[in-house]
Amino acid sequence: MLICPKCGLPLSLKEKSACCENGHSFDRARQGYWNLLMDNSSHGHGDDKKMLQSRRSFLEGGYYEPLADQLSETVAELFPRRGVLLDAGCGEGYYTQKLDAALKKAGKEPSLYAFDIAKEAVRMTAGKLEKKGTFFVASTFHIPMKTASADVALSLFAPYSEEEFLRVLRPQGYLVRAVPLEDHLYRLKKAVYDHPVKNEKKAVIGEGFVLLSETELRGEIRLDSPEKIRTLFGMTPYEKKTGLRERARLESLSELSVETHFGIFVYRRRG
Ligand SMILES: [Zn+2]
Repeated sequence: MLICPKCGLPLSLKEKSACCENGHSFDRARQGYWNLLMDNSSHGHGDDKKMLQSRRSFLEGGYYEPLADQLSETVAELFPRRGVLLDAGCGEGYYTQKLDAALKKAGKEPSLYAFDIAKEAVRMTAGKLEKKGTFFVASTFHIPMKTASADVALSLFAPYSEEEFLRVLRPQGYLVRAVPLEDHLYRLKKAVYDHPVKNEKKAVIGEGFVLLSETELRGEIRLDSPEKIRTLFGMTPYEKKTGLRERARLESLSELSVETHFGIFVYRRRG
């Protein structure tokens, strides 16, 4: 299923290394994943360790479980009895693990492939799922998977390339996206910023796909300690755009009820 990120030929995976017929070879990391990212600049890519740890600790508190349950139900319905599930931008692996477990519970046999551009994220996912899948570091804009190899691709709060999804999905394969909608965490933003902005509803994907369904999911979560509020804030993209004054406001919050607002979009690849 995996291809060489240098030349595009199939990769054969051995115990400790993967190689293509042109002799390009990639080592398996001790924690059980492959680094197939070509641009290994020292700055690191994607979310940093602190943000990923915030995310893991928050998600494991169960606050977004209703979303995980809805996603599980949606994916279990359209997944074939056997097939390839591709989690494109898997983060620290919370949804990856939930969906893999839900599919198995529904009697399906998913071959799981999950990747992220952040090495630390893949390390955490591989640790969480152990030997239940193939995990690799890669970019969503250059996915080292064979053409027409995936039955269902997931893009959960991740950047994506429509062109790449069209390539890696089988004809009639599905793309499942989750995005934050307008009101998501608005009360938290309002408590911190002078001019809070609502999320934009993300533009719908182009002509290669047919939109099959669109589900809105609203909820309310109660954060009863300053630590939980900071943890939630730490896993959002706002974390990096916050000045001293906003930071002080955030630190002064002791409890908060905040709305969640998600959208789940299911597309079918034409073909
Ligand atoms: Zn190669």
